[in-house]
Amino acid sequence: GHTITSDCDITMPLELVTLPCLADNYAYLLHNAETGQTALIDAPDAAPIRAALAERGWGLELILLTHHHPDHIDGVEPLREAFGAKVVGAAADAHRLPKLDLAVQDGDVIDVLGLKAHVIDVSGHTLGHIALHLPEIGTVFTADSLMALGCGRLFEGTPDQMWQSLCKLRALPADTLVCSGHEYTASNARFALTVEPGNAALSARTKDIAAKRARGEATVPSLLSEEIATNPFLRADLPEVKAAIGMAGASDVAVFAEIRGRKDRF
Ligand code: ZN
Ligand code: FE
Repeated sequence: GHTITSDCDITMPLELVTLPCLADNYAYLLHNAETGQTALIDAPDAAPIRAALAERGWGLELILLTHHHPDHIDGVEPLREAFGAKVVGAAADAHRLPKLDLAVQDGDVIDVLGLKAHVIDVSGHTLGHIALHLPEIGTVFTADSLMALGCGRLFEGTPDQMWQSLCKLRALPADTLVCSGHEYTASNARFALTVEPGNAALSARTKDIAAKRARGEATVPSLLSEEIATNPFLRADLPEVKAAIGMAGASDVAVFAEIRGRKDRF
């Protein structure tokens, strides 16, 4: 577990567990040791989540869903049944999510284990994808919007929507912990180096990622500051990135769309 030691104005002891599920998904458990309550962010598969809860003697009070894809929701019903957990997701996606106890939208602030969670619409990968930002613990759950060294493929949204979504996330405090939904980082790094072969921070991070994967460790969560320095999808507005892909002077969105297109074909 990752014990959150952020020196924010909270006194409760919180633990964050990054949980591998399915082939390359991540779910996250957030546990408040004071109240004994636990929240889950995304439910790819009930079995590993139940095992992780059982191992720690935790129940499950809350399930927060980022978007409707099966690899993020398929574990909901067995977990709801086993623990009586309440399920929260985007109102815009209520028709294609498991039954919601609370439907939320951009700008809402909800209670998660006694902490404030800000709902941010981050449409692009899907329409209705949300991120949850918990400023008191400096953590944002982004699933398939902003990912470690990447971003989700544009299945439903336009490049402009995803670029706007990424800009909202980029504007969070730089020391925010980014909890994303997949272990795609090594492949993302190989692609990122084709965009910015001269980015020294990216080269260093790529080595670090390879070492982590060799040890069987997760490369998430990551720090927003590292993403800002190395993630090509957050850097589409920089003159040096535009120049590096032969698009000097092009619009930010056009450059983002080109980088996303290249990644699709990578
Ligand atoms: Zn997805
Ligand atoms: Fe996914």
